[in-house]
Amino acid sequence: MKIPLKSYCMPALLSCALLPLLNAQAAEPLDDEQAVVVSTTANGEDAAAPVTLTAAEQHAVLQRAESIDLGKPLTEVEPAIQKGDSSVKARPHVESQLGAMKVKAVNAEAENQQGRGDDAGHEGAPAAKEVATAASELANPLVLLGAEVPPATSTRLMWSPSQGFAGLYSPTPVLVVNGAHNGPTLCLTAAIHGDELNGIEMVRRVMYSLDADELRGAVIGVPIVNLQGFHRGTRYLTDRRDLNRYFPGDPSGSSAARIAYSFFHEVIAHCDAVVDLHTGSFYRTNLPQLRADLTKPQVVKLTKGFGSTVVLHGEGSSGTLRHEAVAVGIPTVTLEAGGPMLLDESSVSHGVKAIRTLLNQLDMLKQFSLWGDPEPVYYNSVWERAEQGGILFSRVKLGARVKEGQLLGVITDPITNVRSEILSKHHGRVLGIALNQVVQPGFAAYHVGIQAPEEQVSKPSPVTIHHQEAKPAESAQSADEVETVSGAVETQAAKKVEEAPVESSK
Ligand SMILES: [Zn+2]
Repeated sequence: MKIPLKSYCMPALLSCALLPLLNAQAAEPLDDEQAVVVSTTANGEDAAAPVTLTAAEQHAVLQRAESIDLGKPLTEVEPAIQKGDSSVKARPHVESQLGAMKVKAVNAEAENQQGRGDDAGHEGAPAAKEVATAASELANPLVLLGAEVPPATSTRLMWSPSQGFAGLYSPTPVLVVNGAHNGPTLCLTAAIHGDELNGIEMVRRVMYSLDADELRGAVIGVPIVNLQGFHRGTRYLTDRRDLNRYFPGDPSGSSAARIAYSFFHEVIAHCDAVVDLHTGSFYRTNLPQLRADLTKPQVVKLTKGFGSTVVLHGEGSSGTLRHEAVAVGIPTVTLEAGGPMLLDESSVSHGVKAIRTLLNQLDMLKQFSLWGDPEPVYYNSVWERAEQGGILFSRVKLGARVKEGQLLGVITDPITNVRSEILSKHHGRVLGIALNQVVQPGFAAYHVGIQAPEEQVSKPSPVTIHHQEAKPAESAQSADEVETVSGAVETQAAKKVEEAPVESSK
C-alpha cells in the first residue's frame, strides 16, 4: 500500500501526540488522592504504589538542570545541576505518572473509538487547532529523573536503574533537549539490546543536531538503555535475560523486571511518543523499517511521519517496550536498521533522516522538508527457513523484491556436499536477511514482507492498561521483533521460570 502524502498533516500528528495529555488535564486534575495502586501482595501490602508528592513538595526537592554543552566530559557535568527554583512550575502530567498514564490510555481509547478508520477526520477538527495554539505558547519546564529542565535547555541527566543496589549498576546517561516552545515530548531509546549499536549513533546524531532555542517540545534520548549488555557486548542483561521482554516491569520482580519497571516509570511515562531503536539479531541484518501495531490509529499516525521508511505491521510481543507503552496509551514504534555488533553508515543515516523527518512532521522542528515517496506498508511477513544444516550463501540482497519460487539462498553440507536451496514461498520483499554463515535446520534465514490488502489487518482492539492480561505473543512468523526469531521460545520460558534464565540459541 502506498500512503499518499496528503493523507497526513502536521496538526493531525500533533493532536495525536498531545490530545491525550490535554484531555487528561482537562478532565480530572490528578492529585494525591487519586494515586493509582498498581498491585497488592498476598499480604495486602501495597507492592507498587507510586511515590507521589504535592506540587510544593516536588518543587522543594527537585534539582534544576541548567543548559550544558552536551559534549562536556562527565566530570564537568555535575555542577550544572543546581538546587530547585520554586518559581518554576512542573509539568502537571508528570506529577502522578501512573495516574496520568491511566487517564491517557482511557482517552487514547476514546480517541480510537472516534477516529477509527478516519485519520483525515482529525485534520480540520477544532481540537487540533486548539492544540496548535497551545503549542505556540512558551514551553514549561520538563520534570524528569528528579530534575527540572527549563525551556530552551539542553542537558544530561542520569537514570539509575536500581537505586536499591547502589553501586551495583552504573547510572545511565539520558540526554534531554527541552525546546523554548511548547510541544510534544518525543523519546528515543537505543540499545535495550546491548549489542545493537546503530541506534546509539542515531541518538547521538539526532540529539546533537537539535537547537533548544528553536525546538518545539522536548526530545529525550537514551543512547544505551542496557549498559550491562553494552559493556559485555551482548544483547542481554548480566543474568542473561532479555530486558525487552520485561516491560512494564515489576518493582519486586527479577532484576530484569526491576530495571524495566524503573525505566518504564521514570523515563517512558514522560513521553508523548517513543521511537525504540533496534537492529536484527544473531548475524542477521534488517532493512531500515518500522515495526508498528497498525490496528492503533495513534500508532498509524506516528508511522506516517518517518518519510521513506518501510512499515511492517505487528502488535509486538508482550513485554516489549513497544507493546507495553502502546498499551498505556503512548504511541510507540520500533525502528529496526542493520545488524548487531556493527555500525553501518547507510542504516544509521537512514534512521537519522527518518527521525528528523518525524520531528518535522510533529512540527517540533521549524524547517520543513519532505523525504521522497512513502515506502509500502507490509501487513504480513514470513520467515523462510533452512531445511538442512550447512553453510549458507545468499543469492539475494537485503531489500530485494522477490517472486514466489525465487532462489533466496543455497546451503551446502561441508562434509557430504549435499546441497539444498531456500526458495521464496511468496511474492514480497526481503526485509531481513541472515549473513552468510553456518546454519542449523530450521534457522530463520530470510524475513520476507508480503504486501497484502489492508483488510487483512485484525480489527482494532481496545487499548488496555492491564498488562498481565495482554495477549500471548504472536508466532515469530507473523510478527514482530526479528530478534525473537531464535530466542523467542527460550526467552518466554525464561520469563516464566524466573530463577532459571536460559541462554538463547547463540
Ligand atoms: Zn533489539
